[in-house]
This record gives sequence, C-alpha cells and structure tokens, in this order.
Amino acid sequence: MRTDSARTGCVGGRVPVRASRVCGANATLVFALALSCLLPHAAAAATLLGMRSWPAPASSRVVFDFSDPVTYAGPDSGSSPSLTLALPGEHLALGPGVPVLLGVRDSVVDSVRVTFDDAGTRLEIAFSDTTTFRVFTLAAEEDKPFRIVVDVSRPGAEAAEEKRLAAIAAAKRAARVRLVAVDAGHGGEDTGARGPHGVLEKNVTLGVAKALVAELNRIPGIQGVLTRRGDYFVPLRERYHIAERMKADLFVSVHCNSSRRRGSGNGTEVFFLSLHGASDQADADLANLENAADLVGGVPARADDDLVNILYDVKRAAALEKSQLLAESLLDHLATDHRLESRGVKQAGFAVLKSVEFPSVLVETAFINNPAEAKLLRSANFQLQLGRQIATGVASYFERPGIILPGSSGDSTGKSGR
Ligand SMILES: [Zn+2]
Repeated sequence: MRTDSARTGCVGGRVPVRASRVCGANATLVFALALSCLLPHAAAAATLLGMRSWPAPASSRVVFDFSDPVTYAGPDSGSSPSLTLALPGEHLALGPGVPVLLGVRDSVVDSVRVTFDDAGTRLEIAFSDTTTFRVFTLAAEEDKPFRIVVDVSRPGAEAAEEKRLAAIAAAKRAARVRLVAVDAGHGGEDTGARGPHGVLEKNVTLGVAKALVAELNRIPGIQGVLTRRGDYFVPLRERYHIAERMKADLFVSVHCNSSRRRGSGNGTEVFFLSLHGASDQADADLANLENAADLVGGVPARADDDLVNILYDVKRAAALEKSQLLAESLLDHLATDHRLESRGVKQAGFAVLKSVEFPSVLVETAFINNPAEAKLLRSANFQLQLGRQIATGVASYFERPGIILPGSSGDSTGKSGR
C-alpha cells in the first residue's frame, strides 16, 4: 500500500500555515483559500460514504468514510461510556446504503448513530461500558477516501492477552516444543496490496498463515501460533512483540508482492532484515511499501531508535545469521513449485523483522498484481500448498546442525520432542 504524505489542503481540520511573505492579489487568494478551509464545504456538503467496525481481541475500531475532508469537534482521546464527534456547519449527505444507525454490539462498541440539527451533523458512538478511546483522521490515498477513525479499548483485554501469551509460553516450556510465530501480513483497514477480481493481500496472507499453522502443528515437536487471528489491524511492532511475549523461537511473516516498479512481476522471494539498506532500489521500495502498513492503520510515526541502540548487539548478529539460514531453507522448499520462479533470498529494512529474540523472515509468496499468480494466490488449494511448503522449510531449518534454540540449555538441539 502507498501512503501519500504530500497531500495538501485542510486534511484533519488543520489549515497549513506558511511563514512566507504574501502581498497584493496573492494575499487575497491565500486568504480566500484559508477561509475555504476554515469554513469547510459550505457550498457542497461532504458525503458520508460508509461506516464500519473492525472488532479485534484487544479493541474495536470504528471507521467513517467521507467524500471530502471534514473537521470534527470532540476529544482526541479519553475514557467514557460514549463519544460524540460534532461536525459543525457540516450537513452531511448519506451515501447509498449508509444507515443513520449502525448496531455493532461486539461487546466493546454498542452502536453508532448519525444525527442532524441546525448546527450540523453529530456522530454518536455508544460503548458497551466505560472505556478508553482514541480518535484520529486518515488522509485520502489511492483507493481510500478521507476517514475519521475511533479506536476503542476492550476493558480487561490487555490483561487477558498477557495471560493468554504467558500460557502459550508456559505450555511450550512444558512440552519442549519449538514455537513458530506465524504473522499474516496486514488486516482490517490495512488491506495490503490488491489484485485482479478484488483479491486482497490481507485475506491471502491470513489463508496461508492458517494453513501454515495447521501444517506446523502436524509436525511432532513444532507448534505454530498466529499473531493475527482475524480481519483486524495489528501495528508492525506489536506483531513481533506478541511473538516475544509467547517466547517464540521463529517468526515468519507472510505477504504478497506487488511492487509497481516491477510491473506485473512474478515469483517468490524470502527476506531477512538488513541493517544497511536494501540490496537494490526495488527491494527498498518493497520494504517501504510494507512498512507503510502502520501509516495506513493510523500508528503515529516515531523515531526508529531501536535499530541504533542494538546495532552491535551480539543477539542481533546471531539472530541475523539464523534468519538467513531460515530464509534459505524456506525458499528451497517454496522453489519446488515450478509455477513460481525463485527470486532468491534478499535483505531489506522491514520493520516487522526487527526483534533480536528470534530469527525472523518475511515471505513474499507471489505477485498479487500478476493475473496468473493472483489466480493461484486466491485458491484455497494453493494457500494450503504454500503452508505445507513453508512448514517443511521450517522443519528442515530445525534439523540443520548448529541450530540452538534461544533460552535452551543446550540439550534440545535438534531432537527434543521430535
Ligand atoms: Zn504486504
């Protein structure tokens, strides 16, 4: 997905201010433009194109789509049993099929109601209980319109999730198995890349990830666990933090390729983290595209400080070395399907691969914008086959000499539970 950060205008309700000297006719023009932002859309009302909710284990997300940027009045965050966002002066039109009342009832959000009065339009969200929320806007980009997003926490969910992950870690220790965190790329509002006939990367990745977990669980001594279990957004850092909390031994992120630079492109490739930039521009573009998932999902940008602090960490070096071995093993087994050309093992700066706790790889299964490969990717049989091939690659990685599990006492190198 591409996020266009260079958009201008009154997106998010903020009028751009420039400290340049303006005079005469230009000043009038600038004033008129600024005024048109301050008094949004008095002539042509924005249209509410859609409302939807994305329930996730720890939260629920409500999204409003608009034909044009709108300015809301209301808290950006807080804790309460309900939330009202006023759109002053905005007499919204409703798009086709958009209701004034959306019943959500996912035990976090009860309902969403659109009301109108002389002052404008109000978006009223009733929560199931008093809880914390965060509101932000997402600019229009490519095929997505301007959006207001409300993230609502599920009360008690964070503690329950900690307990669940701790239980997975304890069961792993007790059973002496190797735990593989399987990460289905994208999800929820972040659809990932799109292919012909409406095939979405987020759905393909979840299908392949579920198949991979099922295949891993058939191999004695190996257990697979998903980092994302449904159609909801998970920030990139949270994905490997989930794996760390369940004490995973490996991290495999599943994606579909779609670089524009490569046109329709073809083939499969497996990446591990590069600390020094990508091997070529196309790979750098691909990593930027995948890393944009957080922008699509509304995660605030922050400095990438962890990379600097751990640059010389021995754990990092060990994890990278093993990541390369894992990438080679997975590609060897993916390449057995001659319908997919092997593009090789590569390195780039993928944000999701930055844990030092375990070897991490990102599999770009095939090109979703290539009609022939998209047809394969959306087939359940092909997703099962990919799951089987990656699982076999994981198993043969664990059989390599010298693979010692993190945290092991040295007595489980290649034989425990197998
Ligand atoms: Zn992706």
